[in-house]
Amino acid sequence: MSEHKTILVTGAGNGIGRATVMHFHGKGWRVAGFDTDGEALGELRGALREGEALLVEADVGNETAVCDAFDELSDWLGDDPLDLLVNNAAIADPYCGPLEDLALADWQRWIDASLTAAFLVSRSAVPLLRRGESASIVNISSTRAVMSEPDTFAYAASKGGIDALTHAMAVSLGPDIRVNAIRPGWIETGPWQKQAERTEPDHRAKDNEQHPAGRVGRTADIAEAVEYLHGAGFVTGQHLNVDGGMTVK
Ligand code: NAD
Repeated sequence: MSEHKTILVTGAGNGIGRATVMHFHGKGWRVAGFDTDGEALGELRGALREGEALLVEADVGNETAVCDAFDELSDWLGDDPLDLLVNNAAIADPYCGPLEDLALADWQRWIDASLTAAFLVSRSAVPLLRRGESASIVNISSTRAVMSEPDTFAYAASKGGIDALTHAMAVSLGPDIRVNAIRPGWIETGPWQKQAERTEPDHRAKDNEQHPAGRVGRTADIAEAVEYLHGAGFVTGQHLNVDGGMTVK
């Protein structure tokens, strides 16, 4: 059995997922990641020690793709446990346009990439997590589960679902597996840049002001919160706002 702990991150190729992989890899963990973005996974692979990482190109909203990816993960793990699952994948750009124009297929894309994916990946991960002694799941939600901006229906609904799935899984999977969620505020990743370009040139100053902490979040802020929740043995079923105080302003 490997002496190292193992983490699986969905949406590992970019942004928060990538930073989480790098954070845990830096602490000696073995890291596995699933993502649809093969190019980003290729770049990430180059930054990781050989033999300590498994990166699989897979759509985690698709049942067959998840089953295939777990076949690879199981082979790679052998008899070792999975210690931590981070359900992070999502279409992270929340803006879907006016409700009257929102096609069912687009609604479904947002729900599948986030909420359905968290269900499918957790379902496959549970037997692997149960092999260990301190397993946990961290679901990446959003402040938009509890506060809204216009034209974010599908994204907001998927994140509300993630929050509910979190406490439902915590109740059912405990005491073997603890399950928590993180609700990030604005974090400096691609989707934030895209949103920023849509608004005025001094968006950074404005976005900083939205957060009582005085700044937009960094990907490392979320990776550190994942580590905290994994280590916090008496914390389960919780939704941690890692949002610089945005939700209490
Ligand atoms: P990102 O776009 O930089 O990264 C998301 C990753 O998920 C990408 O690599 C993408 O390819 C992957 N992905 C998307 N759909 C997938 C699918 N079906 N299967 C596999 N991989 C898929 O976004 P990010 O900002 O790093 O967001 C990460 C998480 O944090 C998301 O759940 C997002 O909703 C949440 N979040 C982000 C912010 C923010 O400001 N950036 C705020 C609140 C919540």
